[in-house]
Amino acid sequence: MLSLLQEHWTEIKERVRDEYEITRISYETWLLPMNISSFDEKNHILVISHPENLNPNIINYLKSRFTLPFQVIIEEVTGLRVSVNFSSEDKVSDSIFTNNNSATFNAIKKNILDPKYTFDNFVVGASNRFAHAASISVSERPAEEYNPLFIYGGPGLGKTHLMHAIGNAILQNNPGLSVRYIPAERLVEAVVEGTFKGREKMMELKEELKNSDVLLVDDIQNIIGTESTQNEFFNTFNYLYINKKQIVISSDRPPKEMENLNDRLTSRFEMGLIVDINTPDYETRMAILRKKEDIEGISIDNEILQYIATNLKSNIRQLEGALNKVCAFKKLNPKETLNLNTVKEILKDTINPEDNKLTPNHIIKVVAEHFGVKAEDIKSDKRSKDVSLARHVSMYLIRLLTDISLEEIGKAVGNKDHSTIIYGNDKIQKMVQKDKDMEKTIEILKKKLINN
Ligand code: ADP
Ligand code: MG
Repeated sequence: MLSLLQEHWTEIKERVRDEYEITRISYETWLLPMNISSFDEKNHILVISHPENLNPNIINYLKSRFTLPFQVIIEEVTGLRVSVNFSSEDKVSDSIFTNNNSATFNAIKKNILDPKYTFDNFVVGASNRFAHAASISVSERPAEEYNPLFIYGGPGLGKTHLMHAIGNAILQNNPGLSVRYIPAERLVEAVVEGTFKGREKMMELKEELKNSDVLLVDDIQNIIGTESTQNEFFNTFNYLYINKKQIVISSDRPPKEMENLNDRLTSRFEMGLIVDINTPDYETRMAILRKKEDIEGISIDNEILQYIATNLKSNIRQLEGALNKVCAFKKLNPKETLNLNTVKEILKDTINPEDNKLTPNHIIKVVAEHFGVKAEDIKSDKRSKDVSLARHVSMYLIRLLTDISLEEIGKAVGNKDHSTIIYGNDKIQKMVQKDKDMEKTIEILKKKLINN
């Protein structure tokens, strides 16, 4: 069993990172260096160690933060139900803060902007237009117009991307400026560590933050409930604000909805501009996939991109993840033609057809309305031109937008056989490629069906 854990160890850590949205810094600081220290095969107790000599406060912090995620992911990956504990291995160095080689220290010291997040590769659509415009404006004239800029929205919608893009653009225009990006949880960690280890190192971080010309604080909701961190942050915030330094903050919700946020902070956040990012519409999702396809230098059939864009609506990270899986498959199997069925198989853990509320009946109803025919007629044997076309379009859309078998599609459109469905589907597929009107009709119908 130990070998099973060891074999999957990297995957386990990466899945904890992805599924629990652990930031890059936290991942590099905490998760990446973790090793399996021991595994008690009888009682299923797994001890995870960290190579730094972590103080008990941090060990407690790791326990509260990672125990459950590890247990869940280990069970998912290996099927083993384990209890998890943490320990630190290295008893030599004194503190993670006095050891300049430690991951934490480096993470704090580095100017951590991710160069891959730029405005160039950020796709703009109705869902993020305002947030994007405000971010551009801040990057062109830091601390002049919108200060602080507060960006909020659900997970995986591009907040972190925009923050790095702001930072990268500012550095490009003014390489001399000090731009600092910090996830709010890093502030909490600094306070936790500072409390235990004496205050000097935390003061050092604070000094560093105060020397920023641009401070980007990501996921501010993570400082909720930690009064001491809020106080530290409030002081830093005021200092920067008074000194006309740009502050950008992101959060998963607007300031007003952060229940435990200090009122002083709420009102400070509200002095600037508050913008939100919503879930992307279908066009934006397609544009994002096309952009990533471009960046990867891989060409994927439109039908496949559409399948992904249709089924993954609420989180761009998932959208990308699905595309990455498909690209990886394509790279590993260059000879195999990638059809929709293969893609459905590759993505079966990502796209759950159960979540896809589209039923054949619903599709038939929408198609019938669109063509001005009756749904019953589509399911009948009537062969008038309108009805036949609506029937073929229904077959095509059911095949594209649902995961049901040809047999079941046959049943849904009135006991047609398998070859009839293939015929109808192919016919519309060809028409879409040749005939602009049909392409448009299908786009409109998809929009109606997918709902956004
Ligand atoms: P958040 O911080 O809101 O949780 P991220 O900024 O981490 O989300 O975005 C998740 C992923 O989706 C990132 O890889 C990011 O590059 C990508 N992404 C988000 N929005 C866009 C967009 N508008 N255009 C291109 N990629 C995007
Ligand atoms: Mg983020």
